[in-house]
Amino acid sequence: PCDAMVDVNVAVRAAMNLLGNQIHKHTDSFVCDLDEGVPSVQGSMQQIEQVVINLTMNALQSLPYKKCGVFIRTFHDRETRQVVIQVRDQGRGIPPELRKRIMEPFFTTKQERGGTGLGLSICCSIVKKHRGTLDCQPSAEGGTVFSVRLPASGAV
Ligand code: ADP
Ligand code: MG
Repeated sequence: PCDAMVDVNVAVRAAMNLLGNQIHKHTDSFVCDLDEGVPSVQGSMQQIEQVVINLTMNALQSLPYKKCGVFIRTFHDRETRQVVIQVRDQGRGIPPELRKRIMEPFFTTKQERGGTGLGLSICCSIVKKHRGTLDCQPSAEGGTVFSVRLPASGAV
């Protein structure tokens, strides 16, 4: 199960199904744009779904208003032979001085709301295990974009 051919779009759709109620609770503007031509990646469907769940929950929880959006897309980066999953939000953004710390286990700014601070560190270890990368950038229109990059199967 940890070494299967995974269609990341299937993992994203599974995460969306699971999060349906949460999505509607937090935003009126949720868009998912999946590139049906992405190659498979090698690894665990369940773990990749977990990464998408964690990133999407964070995106939803960052939104100050329901009219702010969350956008998920997948695409194939042919130059690097990677499959990319991007989760972008129009939320509060991450202060530059915190950007280095958010991946640390137990780092959270959601104390009052019961944040565990484990979501991103779990994402990191899953992505690392899949020989991929996870990075976060401020989004051009405010908010944040997280990019998961996984080697396309056969790319070595
Ligand atoms: P938790 O969600 O339990 O706080 P995470 O590891 O998922 O733990 O995230 C750690 C911290 O990173 C969050 O508390 C928050 O401050 C910040 N963060 C993560 N994703 C986002 C995002 N999309 N927008 C703004 N801040 C974020
Ligand atoms: Mg979280």
